[in-house]
Amino acid sequence: MPTMNHRPRKQFAQHWLRNEKALNQIVKAAELSKRDRLLEIGPGTGVLTRRLLPLAESVVAVEIDRDLCKLLAKQLGKVDNFLLLQGDILSLDLDAHIAAFPAFQKLNKVVANIPYNITGPILEKLIGKIATPAPTPFDSIVLLVQKEVAERLYAQPGSKAFGALSVRVQYLASCELICPVPAEYFYPAPKVDSAVVRLRPRRVGTPALDPKALETLVKLGFGEKRKMLRNNLKGMVDRDRLTQLLEQLNINPQARGEDLSVSQWVALSNILESGDFRQVDESFHEDAEI
Ligand code: SAH
Repeated sequence: MPTMNHRPRKQFAQHWLRNEKALNQIVKAAELSKRDRLLEIGPGTGVLTRRLLPLAESVVAVEIDRDLCKLLAKQLGKVDNFLLLQGDILSLDLDAHIAAFPAFQKLNKVVANIPYNITGPILEKLIGKIATPAPTPFDSIVLLVQKEVAERLYAQPGSKAFGALSVRVQYLASCELICPVPAEYFYPAPKVDSAVVRLRPRRVGTPALDPKALETLVKLGFGEKRKMLRNNLKGMVDRDRLTQLLEQLNINPQARGEDLSVSQWVALSNILESGDFRQVDESFHEDAEI
């Protein structure tokens, strides 16, 4: 076994997936064809990489651990459609590294069992942020993540798991659960269970007029868990005015952050940013003064 002389390193969140069924489900979820150019983050010992290589046009893998890179280079270095980059996925300039390799450019899918300690930053790197979406979005992103994160990614509004991360990601991509992956499918078993999710970046129906304002609104709106929106947002909008606006949008004025769908978040942000709101705002003040 190639893993024998490499002890999994905690600092790099190394947990080797060793369950055939889960590996096959990850590969299947990527719906690969010979035209797909893949990015894999954290190939580790290459257990997933070996399955991806025969099914895709090419695979670029980014691995931070030098020793694992040596091991992978020894085993897969001669495979034509494989490019291994040693570095930190968060800081590595991927475009610069693949500039000299046309067959590894225009990556269109991501398949990865990622290090859980940097899940948030990896998601941001892959899909961008509300105000700065990835300029060339991937067709699909299949990731093995911690179960609690997975639940937030595909959560429906109204459920407990629906939080700021759900809105931020679902604004940019549709998200679905592929399958749960219990901790014992890994060596060493992580403390948490996992799940495979698939993200498909896409545009939302009605975009935010001011994406930066939506980012701020979502952050504040989910500021304190279990508080009503009008309380979490009171530093930004007067509570009574917000009640009025929520009613205008057919949203229960007692709603909490998790009760609003992504499109309702956008509608609220847009009404706050638009002239309509200012009119409501001003007339409200006039009324109040009379
Ligand atoms: N895909 C493998 C390993 C997953 S464990 C498997 O399924 O068995 C996570 C992997 O990500 C490890 O190989 C770890 O060394 C690597 N890694 C951790 N931090 C990284 C980073 N910042 N950039 C790139 N790779 C990283």
